[in-house]
Amino acid sequence: MSVMTEVPPAAVEALQAGFRGKVLRPEDSGYETARRVHNGMIDRRPAAIACCVDVADVMAAVRTAREHGLIAAVRGGGHNGAGFGVVDDGLVIDLGGMRGVRVAPERSLVTVEGGATWGDVDHATHPFGLAVPSGVVSTTGVGGLTLGGGIGHLARHYGLSIDNLRSADVVLADGSFVTASQDEHPELFWALRGGGGNFGVVTSFTFQARPVRNVIAGPVFHDVSDTGDVLRWYRDFLPSAPRELNGFFLVGTVPPAPPFPEELHGRNVCGGVWVYTGDHDRADEVLEPVRTAGEPLLDGLHEVPFPALQSVFDPLYPSGLQTYWRGDFVATISDEAIEVHERFAEVPTPLSTMHLYPIDGAVHDVGANETAFRHRDATWSAVFLGADPDPSNADRVRDWAVRYWEQMHPTTAGGSYVNFMMEEGHDRVRATYGENYDRLTRIKATYDPENRFRVNQNIPPAT
Ligand SMILES: Cc1cc2nc3c(=O)[nH]c(=O)nc-3n(C[C@H](O)[C@H](O)[C@H](O)COP(=O)(O)OP(=O)(O)OC[C@H]3O[C@@H](n4cnc5c(N)ncnc54)[C@H](O)[C@@H]3O)c2cc1C
Repeated sequence: MSVMTEVPPAAVEALQAGFRGKVLRPEDSGYETARRVHNGMIDRRPAAIACCVDVADVMAAVRTAREHGLIAAVRGGGHNGAGFGVVDDGLVIDLGGMRGVRVAPERSLVTVEGGATWGDVDHATHPFGLAVPSGVVSTTGVGGLTLGGGIGHLARHYGLSIDNLRSADVVLADGSFVTASQDEHPELFWALRGGGGNFGVVTSFTFQARPVRNVIAGPVFHDVSDTGDVLRWYRDFLPSAPRELNGFFLVGTVPPAPPFPEELHGRNVCGGVWVYTGDHDRADEVLEPVRTAGEPLLDGLHEVPFPALQSVFDPLYPSGLQTYWRGDFVATISDEAIEVHERFAEVPTPLSTMHLYPIDGAVHDVGANETAFRHRDATWSAVFLGADPDPSNADRVRDWAVRYWEQMHPTTAGGSYVNFMMEEGHDRVRATYGENYDRLTRIKATYDPENRFRVNQNIPPAT
């Protein structure tokens, strides 16, 4: 299949006719902003950006890409670390104008357009006392996060985002439109739940929402020199804790702003960010071990509306930061792994961090081959994130993340969460999907035989 490196003017004109959104070319105002993604390390110049506002626009953009042999990137929230929401010289199918959310409270169902952010979802669901399991930052796109799996504060209680997905509307590579669910296109539905953006453009997702209103949440931080002891306690405590309690472990720096006490600003710490979604009458009892392990510097646990929790990290990770990350699934935290964490716990810049996100509890209720997301036997998904606003620190944060990951990798379960990967080569993608990989390639061959959707952690079609 040939790929054009320029979009012919005729293709853009054909797309513009009948298109409701805007088609931006490099000379148009708005192009420079529209080509930017969250990661400031990514600097790509697409030939055109199709800013879609409805399903018809998406179908037109996909058909244009197919008819003119253009490489296409699909952009949801633009948060992908590897920058898969944008591509040099090709066509970006930008869903940022499709952010509607509709709640059906009688069945606790939430239908979300493909370009929405999780903040859009939380805003719409909270008045109904509902929430959909998502990530930990509200500006992240529903599209990319869900298609990769979706790991966040509600994972232990209610599973991954995909475990709560009931159906998806999809524009396929040939420009046609289908709905995928357990009953319709079930193989496609299986692949969408973890297989990333490989199978089509999802124009809307329908989720089963869960009863979540106010939660008891916050950080419990210790001095970084306690990393070994706190991590040893955490690895034993977390898997036996009730599902209503989620807590991701981190090493990082205390942000220099309220609500953190001034004397801790900039201090290198380790510890957990805890979220309790159970009966509030039991909160003290459930949280007691968290509060009394070791000697915490900070106990920030308090009652908070769920959307406020979800947006608490947003100001720390604004668009344009230099970010480089690596990830791995972790089954058990060995003594050897703890030694590595101790060595790297002093982060190179204030925003660099390592998180261990729990994926046990409800995530383990789903079998390894019930969805494309395979690592259901892991207990954590680790991410090693180098981040800084200053481009001159790009190499520094990248080196730290890569070295940390390299030292840790021999102790992990192999394979990584696709949403915590950069462009790391095909073997890593294969390792991630393991025994689900061949089935994914067959589904790809059915729904995207020419591999039109390949600006992603790519799964090539079976031949
Ligand atoms: C600050 C920050 C915090 C994060 N926190 C979490 C977290 O807590 N939990 C977690 O699981 N992940 C987290 N992530 C990772 C996140 O899940 C991935 O970066 C994800 O790819 C972002 O999705 P997006 O739609 O914003 O990105 P985009 O860059 O727009 O898209 C990512 C990929 O998905 C595809 N895609 C996006 N939307 C669609 C769609 N509607 N149809 C078809 N394909 C689509 C794109 O083509 C691309 O391949 C975080 C990322 C950042 C930057």
